[in-house]
Parts: sequence; C-alpha cells; structure tokens
Amino acid sequence: MRPFSFTKAGDIASALKINSETEKAKFIAGGTNLLDLMKFDIMHPKHLIDITGVALKTIENTEDGGLRLGALVSNADTAYHEEVEKRYPLLSNAILAGASAQLRNKATNGGNLLQRTRCYYFYDLTTPCNKREPGTGCSAINGYNRLHAIFGASEQCIATHPSDMCVALAALEATVQVTGPNGDRSIAFEDFHRLPGDTPEKDSNLSEDEIIISIDLPPKGFSENFTYIKNRDRASYSFALVSMAVGLEMENDTIKEARIALGGVAHKPWRNKEAEALLENKKATKENFEKVADAIINGAKAYQYNEFKIELARRTVVRALMQAAKIDK
Ligand SMILES: Cc1cc2nc3c(=O)[nH]c(=O)nc-3n(C[C@H](O)[C@H](O)[C@H](O)COP(=O)(O)OP(=O)(O)OC[C@H]3O[C@@H](n4cnc5c(N)ncnc54)[C@H](O)[C@@H]3O)c2cc1C
Ligand code: SF4
Repeated sequence: MRPFSFTKAGDIASALKINSETEKAKFIAGGTNLLDLMKFDIMHPKHLIDITGVALKTIENTEDGGLRLGALVSNADTAYHEEVEKRYPLLSNAILAGASAQLRNKATNGGNLLQRTRCYYFYDLTTPCNKREPGTGCSAINGYNRLHAIFGASEQCIATHPSDMCVALAALEATVQVTGPNGDRSIAFEDFHRLPGDTPEKDSNLSEDEIIISIDLPPKGFSENFTYIKNRDRASYSFALVSMAVGLEMENDTIKEARIALGGVAHKPWRNKEAEALLENKKATKENFEKVADAIINGAKAYQYNEFKIELARRTVVRALMQAAKIDK
C-alpha cells in the first residue's frame, strides 16, 4: 500500500478547493470501487477527499415533473425509494440486479457512474493495458476476451462498462448535473460515458476537477411497460455478460415509443436509436421484435471468446421486449 492523506470535506465548495490545491487528489464516496483499485495498485491518489459529508443525499421532485437523485444517496436507498419504485421501477430493478445488498448500502449513485471496467487485464499489473497505462497495448484484444465489447471498441481498448444502474439511466435518458471550478453544467446521459477511441484511460467526459451533484430523471418513467434483464454467470454477485433495459410507451397493443439500452457490450451503455425507431407505431409482436433485434446486432464485432454475446444480445432484445409489452408469444 502506498501512503496517502485524507480529508473529510464539509461542503462542495471546500471539496473543490482542496482538490484544486492538492496534487493527485481524488474524491471518495462509498469507496467500494476506488479502495479496491488502490489496494490492487491500479490507481494511486496521494490524497483522498471524502465527500460523504456534503449535502447531496436527497431524492426530490424537479420542477418539470421528474426526480432528482442526489449523487451521494446510496444505491439501496435509491432503489427502495417510494417514488423511484412507483415511477421508475426500471431503475429500481436495474440497481437491485447489481452487486450485493451490503455493497448497495455503501455504494453511491455518483460512484456507480464512475466505477471502472472489470477487464481482467486492467486488474493484472503484469500485463499491458492501455486503460491502466496508456501506450502499453491491450492484452484483451488477442487474449481471453469473454467479457469484452461487441460494439464501439477500438484498437486501443475493448473493455465494457460494468454498471447495471447506468443501463437503466441510459434508457430513461437521465441528465447528470455536475459542478467544478468553472461552474455548473448538465451532461446528457448518452454523452456522459465515452467510447475508448485513442484515449481509453478516460471512461467519461467528467473532468477530474468536477463533482457529480445529481442524476436527474425526466418525467417519463415507463412504469407500465418496462423490464431489466441481466444475463450473468451466477445468479447474484456477478457482472453482466449482456444486460438490457427496456421502456415502452404503449397504446393498447401498439408501441408509441421504445427505449432499449444494452449493458456489458460496450465501453458505455449502448443505444441504437435507429433500431428503436423501427418500433414506432408498430404492433407489439414477436416478429416485429425480432426485426429490431436483428437491427441492433447488425454491426456487432466479436473477438475470439465473446462471439456468444451477439446471439445472446439478439435473443435478449426479443425476450426483453416481450416482457415489457407483456406478451408471451
Ligand atoms: C464485488 C463487487 C461486485 C459489484 N457488482 C456490481 C454489479 O453487479 N453491478 C453494478 O452496477 N455494480 C457493481 N459493483 C460496483 C459498485 O456498484 C460500485 O463500486 C459503486 O457503485 C461505486 O460507488 P462508490 O460510492 O462506492 O464509489 P467510490 O468507490 O467511492 O468511487 C468510485 C469513483 O467515483 C468517483 N466519485 C464518487 N462519487 C463522486 C462524485 N459525486 N463526483 C465525482 N466523483 C465521484 C471517485 O473519485 C472514484 O473515482 C460491484 C462492486 C463490487 C466491489
Ligand atoms: S480491453 Fe481495455 S482495459 Fe482491457 S486490457 Fe485492453 S486496454 Fe486494458
């Protein structure tokens, strides 16, 4: 373990100030990801700024009829919050599909967005990894790449984003509110995480000196027709191989709007809006869902050990849409 110092910030302004005045500082919330990364010697901040004392711990209605999730509310408190369960059950289900009860009690909403990949080589200091050490190479491309991306990967990195919560937030089209030395800004969820490109060391478009304040949910929660499916190696305590969040707006048996986000398949939650649009004003039938599934996997690229993900994704799209539309054949 490398030595590091620690401060507990009382408010956001002092957290930002300490960060700007301290070399190699890092914010820490629940610590369920950052502390592991420090123990494995993957990340080595010299100073930790504990932000759990700052006020970002409420869930409140927004003026436009949506819901604001404080960045420091725990994943458990979010999933079991009355308004989230009632108006955004897709989000509740996705959060509860992740990690374990103990971890969800500690893990925060902001931290969940910024958790890092579970690529085996990222954790193995004896192997090259462009995300851990830019310019060293990617061990996964020609290695054991079973967990890896089938969409949006680059020659530099084929890692996936591991979050369940983020898949639901992508389907719900949430907005991330952040603040930093240059003031406040809003980031649409689809722009929050990045594809790896030539800079796989950067997981998101948040700057190192910014703090996530809240995650804002728009009014539409798809609470009638939704599903979250997580395919994984074990029934619990396991990251997604392919996961899927679906929200449908329906009028009788006709689909007015469809949102489909996939997890475990790319460096960020994956949406294909052209494929979603194929369902507009269409009947909820297995045949129509199969056409969308084919459109979604069109363009997927597999590596040696993850070809199974393409067929798994295709079947999961059909199953998830049938569940959300409440049809069984
Ligand atoms: C064994 C295990 C299994 C897991 N399984 C799953 C799973 O199946 N699905 C799933 O989705 N997740 C899973 N997780 C991940 C877990 O959900 C995350 O570790 C957790 O959400 C991170 O939140 P945290 O508050 O602990 O973040 P921390 O570890 O405190 O921080 C993570 C990162 O976020 C930054 N950060 C935190 N809050 C803020 C903020 N407000 N503003 C700016 N930066 C911030 C920190 O600087 C750090 O870089 C698992 C974790 C473990 C250890
Ligand atoms: S896939 Fe990304 S995280 Fe994994 S070894 Fe390659 S560069 Fe590293």
